[in-house]
Amino acid sequence: MFDDLLSLLFPRSCYACDGAMARGESYICTNCSVKLPYTEAHLQEATELNPLQRRFWGKVPVRFAFAYLHFMPKGRVQRLLHKLKYKGAHELGEHLGQRYGSLLSDHRYPAQFDLVVPVPLHHSKLRRRGYNQADSFAKGLAEAMQLPHQSTALHRAVATSTQTSKSRFDRWQNVEQVFRVPKPELVHGKRVLLVDDVMTTGATLEACAVALLAAGAAEVSVATIAAA
Ligand SMILES: [Zn+2]
Repeated sequence: MFDDLLSLLFPRSCYACDGAMARGESYICTNCSVKLPYTEAHLQEATELNPLQRRFWGKVPVRFAFAYLHFMPKGRVQRLLHKLKYKGAHELGEHLGQRYGSLLSDHRYPAQFDLVVPVPLHHSKLRRRGYNQADSFAKGLAEAMQLPHQSTALHRAVATSTQTSKSRFDRWQNVEQVFRVPKPELVHGKRVLLVDDVMTTGATLEACAVALLAAGAAEVSVATIAAA
């Protein structure tokens, strides 16, 4: 009742278009839900590499690569990601994870994974932001897919930025030593679904996948909210 009263006094706006939402809508309005640029990466034949998997080809084996949305600047997806990252909307991350997790479950993907693991934030950044946006998405995905979820399986040792103007090689050198698995027994023999908010070059996911496989993970797949 209190929630009803609150939403009457302060109507919630859509995280994707900032427009007012109708009763019964949550996080993303129906119009945006219809118009979001879905990748449909989950519909790809299991035998062929999709464009996201090709980013890892020759670098690290990635079993499946999924992104829920195409990243487009100045649009709904950018607004969603911005709110998730900088406006404290961690519950939006969980909501997106649940949406995508249900979709992947409809296509029987949960049977392909044993564990959901997010790309970690450095602890100083985690303290500043209060939450890891990749982990919010991971949590929603894990819940919807009924899979175990380990927020701390990967550890980020250095508070480095991968979004610098450095060359790809420098960037790779930069991230290569950044991630480690403090307790290999958590991932040993597991088919890990590695989760992040955005995939750009794929260098961060690549470095995490290398660390997971080195720690004994059986295989690694990746899932992000959006891919550029
Ligand atoms: Zn909207």
